Amino acid sequence: MKKIFLGAPGSGKGSYASRIAPKRNIPHISTGELFRKNIEEETEIGIKAKEFMDNGDLVPDEIVIEMLKNRIENEDCQNGFILDGFPRTIPQAEKLAEITDIDIAVNMDVPDAIIIKRISSRVTCKDCGEIFNIITHKPKEDGICDKCQGEVITRPDQKPEIIQNRLKVYEEQTAPLIDFYKNKGILQNVTCNDFYKSVDEMAEKVLDTILSFTKNATNPIKKIIETNKQ
Ligand code: ADP
Repeated sequence: MKKIFLGAPGSGKGSYASRIAPKRNIPHISTGELFRKNIEEETEIGIKAKEFMDNGDLVPDEIVIEMLKNRIENEDCQNGFILDGFPRTIPQAEKLAEITDIDIAVNMDVPDAIIIKRISSRVTCKDCGEIFNIITHKPKEDGICDKCQGEVITRPDQKPEIIQNRLKVYEEQTAPLIDFYKNKGILQNVTCNDFYKSVDEMAEKVLDTILSFTKNATNPIKKIIETNKQ
């Protein structure tokens, strides 16, 4: 199944994708992570992307689309994938529709107050991208990733003024994708109103939503009813 996880920065999509993908045996593809790897390896893509990312702006569509297209042509994407952080603009979504058919878009619906609190307490593994939170989900050992033992750091784009810009960019350029996928009849919303709700619990909720949507998708009338309820 080809899935898209939508949501503002800090909405949890990356954390849930990293838990759900191995359970479904499909790759978790985060364009943010792909860019960070490219920056670390000082590739041409990395050099082009760095300035935009450091400012909290989006990397231009043509660079992202090319990188994503190459990634999903890999053998491991044949049975599906979870896209986290792509598409982020309507032109990216239109291009994606030309490349492949998406089965479901899950939107993480989280109030701004929670987003801001979460994002400013978020730390990330430098090596594998695993996301932690110094209030609700600390690494077991300070500064060390539970998953790969890599170094856990505060990402350079987590400064308050950069966060503000990322949220503005999200509202202007990414939020319109909610209606885009709603109109295609494949949008499912998952709400989180509780800052302290555990990542594992939320990931379960997202997975349940995906599984019940898949079941309903085989029954066209049920699917229309569910979609209209959104
Ligand atoms: P978050 O989910 O916290 O916003 P990501 O790791 O998904 O973080 O993205 C970090 C940065 O990478 C974005 O602010 C943007 O500069 C760049 N980026 C990632 N995906 C895209 C995309 N699809 N289009 C344009 N820029 C992107």
